[in-house]
Amino acid sequence: MNTPGKPGTCVRDLLRNSTLPRLEVQMLLQHVFKVTRSWLIAHDTDTLDEDGVQEFHRLVDRRQAGEPMAYLVGHREFMGHAFQVEPGVLIPRPETELLVETAIAVLATCASDQPRVLDLGTGSGAIAISIALARPDVVVVATDISDAALKVARRNAQALSARVTFIQGSWFDPLSGQAPFDLIVSNPPYIHKNDPHLQQGDLRFEPGTALSDGSNGLEALAHIAANAPGWLKPGGALWMEHGFDQAAAVRGLLSDAGFKQVNSHTDLAGIERISGGNL
Ligand code: GLN
Repeated sequence: MNTPGKPGTCVRDLLRNSTLPRLEVQMLLQHVFKVTRSWLIAHDTDTLDEDGVQEFHRLVDRRQAGEPMAYLVGHREFMGHAFQVEPGVLIPRPETELLVETAIAVLATCASDQPRVLDLGTGSGAIAISIALARPDVVVVATDISDAALKVARRNAQALSARVTFIQGSWFDPLSGQAPFDLIVSNPPYIHKNDPHLQQGDLRFEPGTALSDGSNGLEALAHIAANAPGWLKPGGALWMEHGFDQAAAVRGLLSDAGFKQVNSHTDLAGIERISGGNL
């Protein structure tokens, strides 16, 4: 990486001259040069390889045009695991860890010998795989309508050595032949089709069908709540993530579908982020 005698660009120059936040510059440099954060600090005056510097500038341009960091570097951490992501899948969000933590807590009190969990609309597989890694004794089945998403999910399961059965199809449609489940979880599209956030930030680059139901934001949540009882064992639980202002509506959907002990959990920002109940 050093070209002795020839002055060139070094990490310190790139950090000093970039308009991106320092952390993002460091992440892009780590990605391009395949080095750790500590390497960047220890070698901040080393001359960097010319091709790498050009690649770095191309990524900076894409970032400045708004592309999400996770798509540029190809991965995002979730529940302490590195998940590969690409433009066909939703980028895992920190608030969705609440859904996984709740699923793990539900499973801790589950009396079945070999509990069965279903994740609907798995995307990158982050929820299903994190549950499977926390509870390797549990059978985890995950569906998604998108072939592109399932390819990423399968790759993630393999890379993280998680055992998950992935099936392609819309929500419950591809499940025929499956036994009922102890727990169903989902982070479905729940953003209203006219929500201006869809035209802002990372969301502009994420798959629209993973974000919005193309309607009032409650359609997928309602479909899942109404159909989950047909796929749950007696006493089985359903937990879904939803928008910041949808908790009361989702509790209503769950009660209407026959769920008991319906309640919501708040995320780290104090927002009611997931709702669920038991049959
Ligand atoms: N939590 C995401 C957001 O608001 C939306 C994900 C979803 O619709 N399931 O950015």
